Amino acid sequence: MALSFALVIDPAASDDSRTDFAGTFRVIDATAPALSVGELSTQRGDGIFESVGVVDRHPQELIAHLDRLAHSASLCDLPVPNREQWRQAVFTAAEHCPEQGEGVIKLMLSRGIEHGPTPTAWVTAARAPDNTGVRERGIRVVTLDRGYSIDTPARAPWLLLGAKTLSYAVNMAALREAKRRGADDAIFVSSDGFVLEAPTSSLVLKEGDRFVTPAPNGGILHGTTQLGLFDHLASLGHETAYETIPVGRLATADAAWLLSSVRLAVPIIAIDGAELTADRELTASFNQFLLSPRA
Ligand code: PLP
Repeated sequence: MALSFALVIDPAASDDSRTDFAGTFRVIDATAPALSVGELSTQRGDGIFESVGVVDRHPQELIAHLDRLAHSASLCDLPVPNREQWRQAVFTAAEHCPEQGEGVIKLMLSRGIEHGPTPTAWVTAARAPDNTGVRERGIRVVTLDRGYSIDTPARAPWLLLGAKTLSYAVNMAALREAKRRGADDAIFVSSDGFVLEAPTSSLVLKEGDRFVTPAPNGGILHGTTQLGLFDHLASLGHETAYETIPVGRLATADAAWLLSSVRLAVPIIAIDGAELTADRELTASFNQFLLSPRA
């Protein structure tokens, strides 16, 4: 996924009330080296990020992404991002996504250079990979122990479990383990047997006429795609719920999906080798909604 555009942001104070932040952006060559070797993002994974899906140059669910960026910043003791500045940076980057079709914009905020004066902030744009096949085909998943209990986030907030940090090595290792086990993706389970999330997506189950997702109680990210889909389902009169879900309920769900900003809704067709029927019609309607312009 080659980057098509990148800009560095001179971080502004969160209460900077100017209306035009263009002067705080510096466009850089997206194909050339740009970060200092002293960067704490690369040395320690010390920073946060967001991946925003873009459709026909429209950044999707931007309000929810900026909310989560601010939440991650606060959990990590990083300066609160100036919302309007980041919003304008995203719209500038969106102009460099495909005019038609899907793109991805990444927002990064790191603690900056060791002993340096400011955080480092940058935004990139690229064409999104083609996910149309996997949205129809579906994915096979395995459950993997996440190694902490459901009450760990409350007992150990310094683990930053609810922040979208740049430290994704564990998430990538889980995906490799899933592949080694012959699956496409994983569902993390707490050590005391509750369903959490996937390494790069949220889980939604359909049980009868209800749609349920694990409660974002600090141990998982609150997915912007799941949030948007639940609002949509509620507006259509469906019941939606956040619950603490024992792993055994995966086996009795009528249908299940992984949801994320770029891949969108993919149906789960097997969990730990047990086949699950994909609801193709519902999946298509989810993705039709998720590909429509959303604030
Ligand atoms: N959970 C994790 C760990 C993720 O990395 C992601 C996506 O980045 C999600 C959930 C889904 O979040 P979103 O729908 O905002 O992409």
